[in-house]
Amino acid sequence: MKFLLWALVLYLVWRWYQSTQNKPEVESTSKQTDEFPFTATTEAEKMVSCMHCGIHVPLSEAIQAKSGMFFCSTEHQRQHTV
Ligand SMILES: [Zn+2]
Repeated sequence: MKFLLWALVLYLVWRWYQSTQNKPEVESTSKQTDEFPFTATTEAEKMVSCMHCGIHVPLSEAIQAKSGMFFCSTEHQRQHTV
């Protein structure tokens, strides 16, 4: 009976050891996959050119007029429409 208890303890220690060995590897790979799509989307972001000065700005930072034209700033939007 004592042998069985020790076998169980050794088994649990071995299982714990295996989980601690695998954990950092899993965390690092999941971290990489989390970061990769983020950098990919920022790099692949659509660029639009300002209708006033022609500078290229990311779509998320561009100001879109009601007519569908893009501007780098509200000032250029105002200057173009006036
Ligand atoms: Zn501009």
